[in-house]
Amino acid sequence: MLDKNAVLKQYFGHSAFRAGQEQVVDAILQGQDALCVMPTGAGKSLCYQVPALMFDGITLVVSPLVSLMKDQVNALTQNGVKAAYLNSSLTFGQYAMVISNIRRGAYKILYVAPERLAVADFLDACSGIKIDLLAIDEAHCISHWGQDFRPSYLNIADFVDLLGYRPIIAAFTATATAEVKDDIEYSLKLKAPFRITTGFDRPNLRFEAIRPKNKFDELLRILKQHTEEVGIIYCSTRKTVEAVGEKLNELGFSVTIYHAGLEDAVRKQNQEDFVYDRKHIMVATNAFGMGIDKSNVSYVIHYNMPKDIESYYQEAGRAGRDGSYAVCTLLYSARDVRTNQFLIEHSEPNPALTVAQQEVLRARDYERLKKMTFYSTAITCLRSFILDYFGEKAPNYCGNCSNCLSQFTEVDITVDAQKILSCIKRTGERFGKKMICDILRGSMNERIMKFRLAGQTTYGLMRDRSVAQVRDMIDYLEFEGYIETRGNEYPTLAVTQKANAVLFGQEQLVMKQAKPKAPAVLKVKKGNIKETVDRSLLAELKALRRKIADSKGVPAYVVFSDATLVDMCQKHPTTVEELLDVSGVGRVKLELYGEIFLQILRTYDRTEKES
Ligand code: ADP
Ligand code: ZN
Repeated sequence: MLDKNAVLKQYFGHSAFRAGQEQVVDAILQGQDALCVMPTGAGKSLCYQVPALMFDGITLVVSPLVSLMKDQVNALTQNGVKAAYLNSSLTFGQYAMVISNIRRGAYKILYVAPERLAVADFLDACSGIKIDLLAIDEAHCISHWGQDFRPSYLNIADFVDLLGYRPIIAAFTATATAEVKDDIEYSLKLKAPFRITTGFDRPNLRFEAIRPKNKFDELLRILKQHTEEVGIIYCSTRKTVEAVGEKLNELGFSVTIYHAGLEDAVRKQNQEDFVYDRKHIMVATNAFGMGIDKSNVSYVIHYNMPKDIESYYQEAGRAGRDGSYAVCTLLYSARDVRTNQFLIEHSEPNPALTVAQQEVLRARDYERLKKMTFYSTAITCLRSFILDYFGEKAPNYCGNCSNCLSQFTEVDITVDAQKILSCIKRTGERFGKKMICDILRGSMNERIMKFRLAGQTTYGLMRDRSVAQVRDMIDYLEFEGYIETRGNEYPTLAVTQKANAVLFGQEQLVMKQAKPKAPAVLKVKKGNIKETVDRSLLAELKALRRKIADSKGVPAYVVFSDATLVDMCQKHPTTVEELLDVSGVGRVKLELYGEIFLQILRTYDRTEKES
């Protein structure tokens, strides 16, 4: 029998496990339950797929994501693994066929939607076979506290009870707070599970947070840097998705859109156009992406700030899944905060929760939104901000985010801070950021007139500053705890104890301010491996991959990922052994495609030598 490393190479083409994977595989192989928290793109699937191929019986994978199942099964089948899925997308005939194959013991890995676990003919089919491992994907769905609670996940424990024996249970998720982790362990009745939380850092991702004057212009500037690449643009509302999609389309970009308001067929078509590389840009709401395992996404742009860092990191994390250099850019405006506040205030109540519990959740949502806002306006390392949020220690300089890469000057803002603090105090701590900013800048808008604020002693004290400068300083004072926001629906600013020292001139405040960012500065360090490969060879390999993928009706990355093709260009194998050395080439794929890829590599080699 193959050992774990041989399985990894033979079926998946990888020569080494990534951080954390091997420990999980070992625990499962020794019969221990597992609870694994790993970020998107870390490689959770291999943790159960490798043991699955080493057990005699079958592995069931519970997953809520219909599209993911199809993808995973596609990919596994391509790798020579007998796999199938059971969910609502199957026709009756297909369903009956899978059930009868289960009875015959025809599969090593079976993906099932949680609803199926309670269905009689599925239970009956399971009674005759041996389930070695039950893997639970997106395990946070079992928790009321998680982002996406699914009642059908509660079927899992009952299903196990009905089996009459206890398979190994391994739970996987990308985001889990301590509460959610405990919930998962308790609800799945895990037995002394091997717990692992791997690093959340994704070193190949560059993080950028920008507050542009004009978002669309900024978007165009960014898209110009990615002309040959594939990317996702997230917007917070359907309307924005439509508007941005249309404008890009008019400008001739290869673009498609996705949101929950589109008809099913259209949505499906658009998703496939993107997954199959027929369209290069996807403009979407957060409804898009769950279960999309597209490995060659080179950038994710957030046209609006999302509601919390969990969402942001999950969405941004869809870039660079194959390990290649990728960029995650957040375009922030103060308006995004208000949109999100509105969404929290008007969110559908979860009927499974009491009114008191819902209040707790709402307060939590506001708290998360506040952290997200801090991120968007942060002047320190963005990566360390995120890692810190997820409870991970990180150095405060990463060298690969817009803050680490832009230059700062230190500015003494003591006097400005005093003006801001007095303004908040003297107006009775009744107003929010926008109003305070307007008063200080001497604005003459209707509300100022209505509240007779123009006679205020601090009115117009900061006329010489721009709105952005005043806002930055207010954000900074809040971040550092000199002021705080009170109330949620109509947030008002209040001065804290800590501010007294500043107000009485006993403390000086120095703030880092970004020198205007020259876009060029951000581009220099593009240590992109793609820069060092032969582009025309890569193009040929991609064309071949496209041809194979089309003829099989699968997405291109299912044949070989971009990272694999890049590695091929760099290693330039001309023999079977050398080709096996390329990351992502396993025995099965070698047999399927080895020869045709080698043909290109060999002729390419020759023409190069001749010229
Ligand atoms: P997750 O489910 O954690 O989001 P996946 O299991 O989909 O991540 O894996 C993400 C990507 O990483 C896939 O393209 C996969 O082929 C690749 N990958 C996983 N494990 C390894 C490994 N040990 N070596 C190289 N690539 C890997
Ligand atoms: Zn940084």
